[in-house]
This record gives sequence, structure tokens and C-alpha cells, in this order.
Amino acid sequence: MSGAPAIEVRGLRRVFHVRQGLFAPPRQVVAVDDVSFAVPAGSVLGVVGESGCGKSTLARMILGLLPPSAGEVLVDGRRLSEMDRRARARLIQPVFQDPFSSLNPRRRVRDIVAMPLVAQGSISRAEIARRVEESLSRVGLSTEQGTRFPSQLSGGQRQRVAIARALVLRPRIVVCDEPTSALDVSVQAQILNLLAELRRELGLTYLFISHNLAVVEHVASEVAVMYLGRIVETNESEALFAEPRHPYTRALLASVLTPEPGLGVPDVGLGDTMPDPANIPGGCRFHPRCPLAFERCPVEAPRTTPNGAGFVECHLAETA
Ligand code: SF4
Repeated sequence: MSGAPAIEVRGLRRVFHVRQGLFAPPRQVVAVDDVSFAVPAGSVLGVVGESGCGKSTLARMILGLLPPSAGEVLVDGRRLSEMDRRARARLIQPVFQDPFSSLNPRRRVRDIVAMPLVAQGSISRAEIARRVEESLSRVGLSTEQGTRFPSQLSGGQRQRVAIARALVLRPRIVVCDEPTSALDVSVQAQILNLLAELRRELGLTYLFISHNLAVVEHVASEVAVMYLGRIVETNESEALFAEPRHPYTRALLASVLTPEPGLGVPDVGLGDTMPDPANIPGGCRFHPRCPLAFERCPVEAPRTTPNGAGFVECHLAETA
């Protein structure tokens, strides 16, 4: 549908019931709690937050890999829940963090890249071969590299294979979930540049998930900051980095961000009280870690206050 956002998420919620022992009662974990946003076609929404904040659960719902407990996802103006698997795959594709585990080690690269085309069930073998070749060349891989197995490629080349596989159906949207986190520092910039180049050439829309604000700043036109399942601040990238309003966003920005693979979560400078999604604090969920918390914060949840092109959820923004 023309004019509709590429991705629109309305009131999305996902609850898991987790049992921690054979006889223990199940605990409710609200991984994503009433999240709404729209991503215009051709732009990049960066979603940032610590591990366990719900960003990967959000990505899996947007990809149709996990049904929401409430709310809905619209892709190109159409309800994701009303599309079959093949139609969904033609519109939206993933690139995951770990190319080492997301590629079948027993298949050759060209067969891995061909899989989404084969799964469509209606494309000729000649057309599949032509499109695989085209997709490999777009990501900078040769025909000869297409004949190899994943174990015969470097980490960066494997992530190029994952990107070629994501693009072979010519989707409009790519969900990148920590696409550079498992790579060596020297390779990360190459993959980010490749993703940026492909977006410009093909007019793609990205949902770009990362724990690393430095990476998000490099690629995103808009940024959403997630904390314990909710978006607590969102804005155009430039405005958010120039003038962060939420104390959590400020802590993330002030933190020592590391591009080192494997280190994962940045030191956010808020002590080691890791948030527990099964035990979300009342009032403002950030209050136990917030350096600016005051008496209202533990008892009353902040409203969503408009801020520039986005919003912020903090009592201090309500009165500013
Ligand atoms: Fe901190 Fe209170 Fe704002 Fe929450 S509402 S972020 S606790 S100042």
C-alpha cells in the first residue's frame, strides 16, 4: 500500500510464562510491553538497549517468528498476521547476529542463498541460479565463493552470505539483529558500510537492533531506546544523540561503548543491578537505577510526552 509506513507496530505486547523449577509456579515475564512505532519506507530505525530489554523479542514478532500476546504488526500497510509465510518472506527478511550458527554447515553457499527462492515453490531453476549469482555479487562474493561451504569462509564473508540470502527475494524490509556483534572489529565497519550501501541502492528499510549506540549512530535515521520491554525514548537520530532527554538514554550515551565482539552489553554506569523482566518495578520501571529519581517515580508511571519527532517517558520531561 503506497504511503503506508514500511513497518507499523501498534500496542505490541509479548508475555512468556517461565517455570524455574519442576514444582515452582510459572512466572510471567513481560518481554515487550505496549510498544508502538512507525518506520517510514527507506529509513532506518535503530533499537538500542541492554541485553534482556526485549529488543530481540520485538524483532522476532516483526519477522512473524513469534506471535504477539497483544497488538499487531503491519508491513507495507498489511497485517502481518494475515499473510502466509511465503508472502511474508517476500516483504521482510532477517540478518541475525551469528553467521556461524545461522548458516547450514553442510550446504554450499549458493544453495544457502537459494533457499528462500526454492521455498517460494514457483521459481524456475534457471531464474534461481541467476538471482543467486546477482545476490552474491551485490554483497561482494564471487561465483567461486558460492561453491564453498561456510566453514571455508571468514566471519565477514559468512555474514555477507547471510545478507545475500536475505536479499535474494528482493524484500522491502530487512531486520538486522546485532548483525556485527559476532565479528572482528576490523570487519564490523565493512559490513555496516555494505548494509548502508545496499539500503541506498535498493531503497530498503531497516529495523536495526544493537546494544551498541556507536553502531546505531552510524546507521540509523531514527532511534528507539528500550528498557525492560518499553520504548522509553525515541527521536530522530541526530536530535537523540545531541539532546537525550531520558536518564537511561543519557547513561547509555555516557557509557563506555565497546565494539569488541563477545563483550555484548555496554557498561551503562548504573551499577550492577541487572533489571529482571519477571519482576518489573512499579511506577517508573527505571526508578531503582535512576540517578534523578524522586518521590513520584516509584509510585506513578510516567506519561508519554511528545519530544521533537518522537517521545520520552519520564516525569521530568512532563514538567520541562
Ligand atoms: Fe528517572 Fe523518575 Fe524519570 Fe523514571 S520518571 S526516568 S525514575 S526521573
